[in-house]
Amino acid sequence: MLQENYESVDKKITEACKRAGRNRDAVTLIAVSKTKPLSDIEELLQNTDAENFGENKVQELVDKYEHISRPVIWHMIGHLQTNKVKYIVDKVCLIHSVDSVNLAKTIEKEAAKHNVVVPVLIEVNVAGEESKFGVSVEETEDLIRQIKDFPHIHIDGLMTIAPFVANPEENRVHFRRLKELLLDINSKNIDNVHMNVLSMGMTNDYEVAVEEGATMVRVGTGIFGERNYNI
Ligand SMILES: *Cc1c(COP(=O)(O)O)cnc(C)c1O
Repeated sequence: MLQENYESVDKKITEACKRAGRNRDAVTLIAVSKTKPLSDIEELLQNTDAENFGENKVQELVDKYEHISRPVIWHMIGHLQTNKVKYIVDKVCLIHSVDSVNLAKTIEKEAAKHNVVVPVLIEVNVAGEESKFGVSVEETEDLIRQIKDFPHIHIDGLMTIAPFVANPEENRVHFRRLKELLLDINSKNIDNVHMNVLSMGMTNDYEVAVEEGATMVRVGTGIFGERNYNI
């Protein structure tokens, strides 16, 4: 079941790449395993070529990191509190959710202790939703300028969580805007700033996101099924 789901998502990404004239290798599928048991991840590892997994809670990520049967590529995709940075800074390949200088300072400090450079994305609230984390489109360049010289952080690109909509076409404009923002900031030739990652698209809208240039899509429900938060 999980294998079929994963392969079906993978195939839809391939088709979206074709429609957009993009190379399939340009898009990484992150399987968002939050709330799901480790056995689900193990099942995917055995039956598919999945190697990227996303979690949004520090404790859950650390638990799975410690118990998994072989190393995988972990992505921290959720809102991150500064006091928890120390638990994951040496365990994840990418933090998708940097949205303040304060958080970046903490990542810098903890990364320095471990002598690693941590790749991060700036989370942009591209649709300007009240309830969402992330900086506004207007604030993004300023935040990047404040972080760009931190020696133990590398800004790889931008991330967004698009609104929950009935028709994924409604989010096309937001994905397009995030890509334009990335290109716009890159074109300014700011020292230490050249971004090439766009993390956008979830179960409901990843095909549109790929058509609009996503280099990472984060798919949970489409692979693992509905989440139950009451257990
Ligand atoms: C849960 C989550 C996802 C996956 O959502 P689905 O709709 O289940 O695919 C993607 N990104 C983030 C940041 C999430 O928290």
